[in-house]
Amino acid sequence: MNLSKEMYLKAGISEKVYDHCEKIWLSLEDRFKKIDEISEYNQLKVIKAMQDNRVSEACLMGTTGYGYNDLGRETLEKVYASVFNTEDALVRPQITCGTHALALALMSNLRPGDELLSPVGKPYDTLEEVIGIRFSKGSLAEYGVTYKQVDLKENGDFDLERIKNAINERTHMVTIQRSKGYQTRPTLSVEKIGELISFIKGIKSDVICMVDNCYGEFTEIIEPSDVGADLVVGSLIKNPGGGLCPTGGYLAGKKECIENAAYRLTSPGLGKEVGASLNMLPSMFQGFFMAPSVTANAAKSAIFAANIYERLGFPVIPDGKVERYDIIQSVVFKNAEGLCAFCEGIQKAAPVDGFVKPEPWNMPGYDSPVIMAAGAFVSGSSIELSADGPLRDPYAVYFQGGLTYQHGKFGIMMSLQSLYEKGIVTL
Ligand SMILES: *Cc1c(COP(=O)(O)O)cnc(C)c1O
Repeated sequence: MNLSKEMYLKAGISEKVYDHCEKIWLSLEDRFKKIDEISEYNQLKVIKAMQDNRVSEACLMGTTGYGYNDLGRETLEKVYASVFNTEDALVRPQITCGTHALALALMSNLRPGDELLSPVGKPYDTLEEVIGIRFSKGSLAEYGVTYKQVDLKENGDFDLERIKNAINERTHMVTIQRSKGYQTRPTLSVEKIGELISFIKGIKSDVICMVDNCYGEFTEIIEPSDVGADLVVGSLIKNPGGGLCPTGGYLAGKKECIENAAYRLTSPGLGKEVGASLNMLPSMFQGFFMAPSVTANAAKSAIFAANIYERLGFPVIPDGKVERYDIIQSVVFKNAEGLCAFCEGIQKAAPVDGFVKPEPWNMPGYDSPVIMAAGAFVSGSSIELSADGPLRDPYAVYFQGGLTYQHGKFGIMMSLQSLYEKGIVTL
């Protein structure tokens, strides 16, 4: 018996589950090689950006108070701008999450009377309140910014005719979500995003194209800002934080867009000049350094999960074969037992709170109970191995993250172990 098998058995995996899983991970070696190539390319991209911008030991020292002349903060923002191939960037722990980063980008670059267009259908749930699709205090709608939406066609293609008709003299900004998030549409490749941006700029050249880059960073060797996006926006407790960054968000893009965002984040007149980095810089730099390989580990874990469950007859989105442009995987269980057993297994594999049994609860904002599995070093971090799903038809689990492939793999094996022990699957 090989050494790791022995350890898996000690860790609670039965021989049947191990044998089933082993066949599958062995069959994925060629796929994983391609992911390693992407991560190698991106790793060099990040190192080169750090060297070109002269990251030094002094950059790891934070500031306090106003945070004037914060060398580390300014250098980190240059590193992000280099990696995303943009004029400037705003990378701050004062940006509290992905939603905040997106709200900041929108609210600072739109003015009363302007219109925002989403040409890729409904945006991420939390943006509905930012935009004012669902009533909310302080939304763009309250400030007189209107919103138009063009859904994707049935087959997932852009509805170019409708997009063209939706663009008018007031259209000032376009928001494009790269990842499918928690919808069933396909995730957009960077290439497709580039085609959409060219089409839009062909109709109106000065419209600001923003991409919600959450979960997409480093899954390909180019980013949306390489293909014409004026702004890319994301969360530091997802891919670019590399699992080390404890909080924050980023915007990278055109100088003017970033300047607008900085004046909104801090204050008109102050902009990027203030914002103490405290003791955050080491994890922000090191997390970004780790991000290409951590993202690759999460992508491998997602592909492993898709193939395990696809082979057992469960619908999986995306399927086991397609190329990946984000790190989210869903598996459809069609009943609460399957969904809960899966989450229990993921939790049992966690380094933190591994002894806890997740229970469905009535989360604010949801119309049915939700079950969540997470045993993370950073609270709520979804670049760490995590899974959740609402207890309603079709009882789909959304699974993402895995700082190491070994952990992602173990989590998936524990989820299968849990389904197997409950008699939900037979092997
Ligand atoms: C996670 C996510 C967001 C919002 O991020 P939070 O950090 O949870 O506020 C927005 N868009 C997409 C596509 C996401 O995945």
